Amino acid sequence: MRFAQIHSKLIPDKLLHSPEKTYPISSFEQISTAQQTNPNYIYNQELQQQLAGKQLLPDDLTISIEEIQEHFENGYLIYRKGIHLEKNKPICIRCGNKDLHFFGRFPCARCGEDCLYCRKCIMMGRVSACTPLISWTGPDQQLESTSLQLSWAGSLSDGQQTASKRVVQAINENKEQLVWAVCGAGKTEVLFEGIDAAITAGKRVCLATPRTDVVLELTPRLKKVFPNIQVASLYGGSEDRHLNAPLTITTTHQLLRFYQAFDTVILDEVDAFPYSVDESLQYAVRQSRKTLSSMIYLTATPNEKWQAECIKGKREYVTIPARYHRHPLPVPSFQWCGNWEKGLQKKRLPRNIIQWINKRLDAEKQCLLFIPKIDKMEKILPLIRLLHPKIEAVHAEDPKRKGKVQAMRNKEIPLLLTTTILERGVTFPNIDVAVLGAEDRIFTESALVQIAGRVGRSAAAPGGEITFFHYGKTDAMIRARKQILQMNEEARKKGLIDY
Ligand SMILES: [Zn+2]
Ligand SMILES: [Zn+2]
Repeated sequence: MRFAQIHSKLIPDKLLHSPEKTYPISSFEQISTAQQTNPNYIYNQELQQQLAGKQLLPDDLTISIEEIQEHFENGYLIYRKGIHLEKNKPICIRCGNKDLHFFGRFPCARCGEDCLYCRKCIMMGRVSACTPLISWTGPDQQLESTSLQLSWAGSLSDGQQTASKRVVQAINENKEQLVWAVCGAGKTEVLFEGIDAAITAGKRVCLATPRTDVVLELTPRLKKVFPNIQVASLYGGSEDRHLNAPLTITTTHQLLRFYQAFDTVILDEVDAFPYSVDESLQYAVRQSRKTLSSMIYLTATPNEKWQAECIKGKREYVTIPARYHRHPLPVPSFQWCGNWEKGLQKKRLPRNIIQWINKRLDAEKQCLLFIPKIDKMEKILPLIRLLHPKIEAVHAEDPKRKGKVQAMRNKEIPLLLTTTILERGVTFPNIDVAVLGAEDRIFTESALVQIAGRVGRSAAAPGGEITFFHYGKTDAMIRARKQILQMNEEARKKGLIDY
């Protein structure tokens, strides 16, 4: 797309009545916008619905360019550069990418030039040097504010209660709050009162999480708790794309389409991949917030930097140090298992691992065994199957992953070998867990705390063992164990555990 600038007003080339000099939007020094919205203009409510709180490409909209331009000229929307050139260095305004490796060029039919584009966010449609990002600046869609949204008969534990109050307070005061809740504390319930308070005040709420699985799990749960309101559920390929609901549940990826949309953003599993390592997703979360807004972070395992900020008083946080069932967290034990990778080459497993497995097979207690890499897992599986033929293995790309997890739930599998794919999100009621090769770099402090958090989840079977088999202790292992011990100690001091 090319634009001309006439009397400091941008006009798309298609709408020009006479030949003018035109440029890709990124070539303009400044883009002027209408001084104010024209109150006499009758705006298109469907466009408002599609565009409010978003930053979309012309291709994302179902409305003609003539009508889009009319709204622009009447002050109901703005054009922003998709790619901004700062001293000739490109920045993608949608995803914040500045890394030259993630820019490419292509012969562009829209501007007729060799057009620079961002590869980082291309899965959301191409942003190139000639692409405008379009955002709504007209009146907000009014959300109906109705009270008594919440339909939930459950009760909160003492730890949850404290956290819930802090969440409500942060939402009311437009502040940031980190909720550091141990695995199995029940962190979702802690949000209910806060979401209710926000929606009652006519605020727009977003619950974002790095993983699609979590969106799919949370959507029906929250729809049940908030039956009177519309809930939009967004992930790659979802149908709710143009839904402008008071409560949006979304993957962090989908936030790339939002711009100053939410009064309250709740970010679940801040420590989880890919959010934790992908700066463009962190940028997307910032962009999706209104200037005046609240931000709630949820995690069982904040990274080292955040932990330090909490301790130094630089970050508002509240802990839920105990599980809902008031039993302490199982504490990992360390067992040295020698150079297991070398043993594998000779088709041998460490003896203490074999003993550990046999003991559980004899007692018919189910277990998970975490392995750092897929290729190692493939070598281990046939060896372990000699102990029991029904042992299975899963990893991220395994097409039978869901079926195997279900078979584990049905107790048809005695032991499941897994990569870190099952480190979070899954609950099996009565299992022991071990890590083989806990010294591997993939097992960060956060991953190990999550893995340990798979044990003793249910009130009926709150115990269970977690063992890290290693060939040399790492800092991550030591920190993970310390974090768990500290949470148990804090929970005891606060009277949140009984055993
Ligand atoms: Zn172009
Ligand atoms: Zn981008």
